[in-house]
Parts: sequence; C-alpha cells; structure tokens
Amino acid sequence: MQEVKKPSKKPMIFYYILALLILLLLNATLFPSVLRKQVQDVSYDVFMSMSYDKQIDQVQIEGDIITFTDLDGGIYTTNATDDPDRTQRLYECGATFTEIDTQPGLLTSILVGWVLPLLPFLLIGFFLNKKLQKTMGSGDGMMFGMGGGSGAKAYIPSSAGIRFADVAGEDEAKELLHEIVDFLHDPEKYREIGAKLPKGALLVGPPGTGKTLLAKAVAGEANVPFFSIAGSEFVEMFVGRGAAKVRDLFKQANEKAPCIVFIDEIDTIGKKRDGQVGGNDEREQTLNQLLTEMDGFDGSKGVVVLAATNRPDSLDPALLRPGRFDRRIPVELPDLQGRVDILKVHAKNIKLADDVDFTPIAKMAAGASGAELANIVNEAALRAVRDGRKFATQEDLQESVEVVIAGYQKKTRVLSDQEKKIVACHEIGHALVAALQSHSAPVQKITIIPRTSGALGYTLQVDDGEHFLMSKQEILDKICTYTGGRAAEELVYHCVTTGASNDIEQATKLARSMVSRFGMTDEFGMVAFETVSNQYLGGDATLSCSPETQTRLDEKVIEIVESQRQKAMRLLKENEDTLYRLSQYLYEHETITGAEFMQILSQTAEK
Ligand code: ADP
Ligand code: MG
Ligand code: ZN
Repeated sequence: MQEVKKPSKKPMIFYYILALLILLLLNATLFPSVLRKQVQDVSYDVFMSMSYDKQIDQVQIEGDIITFTDLDGGIYTTNATDDPDRTQRLYECGATFTEIDTQPGLLTSILVGWVLPLLPFLLIGFFLNKKLQKTMGSGDGMMFGMGGGSGAKAYIPSSAGIRFADVAGEDEAKELLHEIVDFLHDPEKYREIGAKLPKGALLVGPPGTGKTLLAKAVAGEANVPFFSIAGSEFVEMFVGRGAAKVRDLFKQANEKAPCIVFIDEIDTIGKKRDGQVGGNDEREQTLNQLLTEMDGFDGSKGVVVLAATNRPDSLDPALLRPGRFDRRIPVELPDLQGRVDILKVHAKNIKLADDVDFTPIAKMAAGASGAELANIVNEAALRAVRDGRKFATQEDLQESVEVVIAGYQKKTRVLSDQEKKIVACHEIGHALVAALQSHSAPVQKITIIPRTSGALGYTLQVDDGEHFLMSKQEILDKICTYTGGRAAEELVYHCVTTGASNDIEQATKLARSMVSRFGMTDEFGMVAFETVSNQYLGGDATLSCSPETQTRLDEKVIEIVESQRQKAMRLLKENEDTLYRLSQYLYEHETITGAEFMQILSQTAEK
C-alpha cells in the first residue's frame, strides 16, 4: 500500500498557466528579434566596394532592398540606388542570385523559443510542487486553515498492499468485509435484487486484534480510493475546525465515489453527548457534522464508511443507529487455531528451524492478541540473533512467549537464599494444589528466575482445549489454586509475605464475580449487582446495589475465598512431603517442567 498525500492541485495549475502566458508573450515580442540572424545594415558604397573586391557570395534583390552575404556568411542589407552596372558587376564577382533566409528554421525556433525556456519553468514547478506537498502534509501550513483540507490520507492500491490473506483468523469479520468489497466491484449485482449496501461498518474489538489491519486489507482488495483518517485528527483547538474537516473529507469522498472512508479510533469524536455543563463544544460540533454527513451521502453511489474502536459502549447511540453504522463487525481475540494461523503469517517473515511446531506455542499464548503474537515471533528472531544463530528455533519461540507474558529474565536481581526458598515454595504451592484438584499436569513450567515485570517466579499454565464456559466448580478450584501459594508459605515457613498480593487480587475478583455477576450463590440468586463497562479495555465493573446488600456481598466474597484457602491448606498438609521435595527441587534447579513435576509427584505418592 502506498500512501499518498493529496494536496489540492489548484495552485500548481495556476502556476503552469502563468508560465505558458509568459512564454507566449516572449515569443510574440522578444524572441523573433533575438532569434533573427544578425543582419548588418550598411550603406550602398560598402556594397559597391565589396562587389568590386569580389567579396560577395549570395545576393537577393527585392524591390529597393538588397540583401547579401559575404564569403564568411555574414548577412548585410542596404538600400538600392540607381546603379545600372550592378547586375553585371555582381555576375563578375561570382555572386549567386538566390533567396537569403534571415528567419531561423522552424525546428530551431520551436526548440529555442518554446522548449528551452520551458525547462527552467518545469524545474521551478517541480520544486514548488514538492514544497506544497510538504506544507499541506504537515497540516500546519495554514494556521487557521481556510480550506486546509481534511488531512485524510488517500491510499492507492499497489502490489505491496495488505490483502485479506495477511490477516489470519477473523474469518467472520473478513466475510462481512468481503461483501463490501464485492459490492464496490460489482454494484449491479446487488442493485438488481434491490439490496442496499450498508453505509457504514464498525469494527469493534480489543486492542491489537487487527482492526486497523483489516481496514487496510479492505483498501488493498477493493480497487477503489481509500481515505484513512484517525479520529484524533478531527480534534482541533478551534471550534468548528473539526466539523470543517469532516465536511471536507466527505466532499472528497463524494467526488471519488465509489470509495471507502476509514475513521480509526472513532471513539475520540464519537463519544456520547452528555448534558454536562461546559461540555466539549468542539467535539459535539464535529460529531454532529459527522452524523449529518453520514445521512447526507447517497449510499448507492458507493461511499462506504468503515470505523474502528475498542470502546463501542462509549459511542453516541445516534452514531450506531441503522442508516449510519448499521453493521457491527466484532474482531475478537483469536482462538487456538487463529493464534496458530497468525503465528504462521508472521513467521513467514523470519527464518525458522524446520521442526518448529506452532501449536504448543499458540497454546502457551492463550489470550494473546494478534499484535502480541506478532511481537512473539519478532522476539524469537531477535533472540536467535542475540545467540548468533541464523534461524529461530522452537525454544526461541517458547522463551519469547514468556518474555511477552512476564517480561525479560532479570539477571541482576539477586534474591537472598531465604527469599528464593520462599518463592520456590510459593510457586510449588500453586502447582501442587492445581495438580491435586485436576489429577493431571497443571503446568508446563515453573520458574523462580525473576522477570522484568516484577514477578519473582511464575507458573506457566497451559490449557489443552479452548474454554468458553467455566463451571462453578472450575472457578472454585481456580480460587483454591490462587490461594495455594500463600498457604504453602504459611505451612512451611509459618510466615506470610507480600508475594501473594497478585494472587489475592485475582482470587477476590473471581469470587466477587461469582456473587455479583454470575449468579452462582444460593443467597443472592440470579441477580446482577455489577455491570461491566468497557469490556475490551480491562472491563471495569460498576457496583449498583444498596449499601446493605454491598455489606452482605463483601461478607460472601470473604467466605468463598476463605473456604477455598482452607481447602488448599488441607490439600497441602496431606501432601506436605511432596511439597518439600518439589520445593527443594525447584530451589536447586530454578526451573521445572511439567513432566518433571508430575514425575516427582507420582514418586512421592507411591511411597
Ligand atoms: P488494532 O485492532 O488495535 O487496530 P492493529 O490492526 O493495529 O490492531 O494490529 C496491530 C498488529 O498486530 C498488526 O500490524 C499485525 O502485525 C498484528 N495483527 C493483529 N491481528 C492480526 C491478524 N489477525 N493477523 C495477522 N496479524 C495481526
Ligand atoms: Mg488500531
Ligand atoms: Zn502466587
């Protein structure tokens, strides 16, 4: 995809017209006399003496004017006077009677009169054009922007463009977008049935899932002009400026129809208009203008508006109503197959060992977005270079998953011996509780090498399948696993540390959700006390219940977590031996794989 800023062509056209006029003027006045061959006006006696001296080569007599040349080719004219011997004398001196051309040849006159003077004009024009593009491109060329342009980037398709094939997974989104591309190519097919193209489509999903990428792919597939602009570019300091930009954008689009307009991060201008005192006038005007424009243009002409956002719930409802963005295209986090595909797409760009298997990598990277997966592949390549290898291996990929999840290994942070023992015990606590509950390898790897994210150790869990639902029991087991770390510390070292803060947070969140959102307790039944806003960005929950209920909710949450902690404690106590051995092993080796873990577990169980 080649990105081309389109400055207004008007100033350049004026320039060229002006240049042409100047040339015309020069050709009418100055050039003919300059271009005329040098002709000397001499008196008749000069002519006479030259004819006597046999200095004349050619001669032309035309009425009263005699034009003649000397032997060196110089041209002269003189006024004829009465001179009867003239013809005889000229004949004797060997002059030829012929027509003498004082005008330059046609080719020379075109070359000298038009082409040569045009060159400097073209050169100046070229630089002027370049400069114009620069000032227009930066958008600061005009301070108060009379005209200024919408600032939209126009794309022209090129062979290097992004195609649908470059977007892995996201099949539903691609299908929906494909229809739009298809319409733009063959509107007749749809018109015959009477089907109308959706005027706008809104891509919604968490960050990094490929929304912008999909829009670019649409531009690459559809052979129509593609205007791309970020929502933030409409945000201006001066009231009315953003609205003017919107107007300009749609004007351009209407001229170029069929075409696609893409507004990235539309939530910056599309936020709900609320009745706040001193609300943002500028933004509201911009939004109103956008609403008007989207109503105003004729969808059958083939202008399609695409927009992307990760905050659909904050958008103004007027923007979402049918007739504006009437198609909503979810772009979700990729599933296992999607992750494998995305890894493959990005792996094409790097050199890989032949035996790389993407499936375990994709399993490890559960919940990763497309952008994170792209990053993982790149990290693997970087790691290979660091180690002086020519290609990346399976291990590189595995390590880079951990880097993306937990940060780099911290070489400098040295834990004291005692701290290291406690961390090992804590991590094994988690893993052991999980293993005892599920009776299978709960982890792929446990390590106590500190990471830059601040984790002193961590347990890498890998789910075999894809989970879309969680049962109540699974959630309880999970809470139990979270509490296992702290429980192990208490059991072995009889002290509590700050290391469990993240576990506590996670366990509490789960327990609270059970009560207030999932309706998983008998006391509260199926009542939602919390609503999640902003589902794609962290998912903050807002509580809406009476203070009394809130108190009871809190009590229930404490009860759930505490009962799970006791369960974890019990499980660990029953297997204290295993806990010691595993912790010791981890302390010595710093890293333990799932297989080693299970082996030691079964060994101790046999005894
Ligand atoms: P956002 O949804 O936040 O707009 P982007 O489209 O900017 O995300 O994606 C960022 C990067 O992540 C892309 O440039 C691409 O390299 C990678 N990526 C995301 N999703 C995919 C996907 N489905 N297939 C291939 N690459 C992807
Ligand atoms: Mg984006
Ligand atoms: Zn922990």
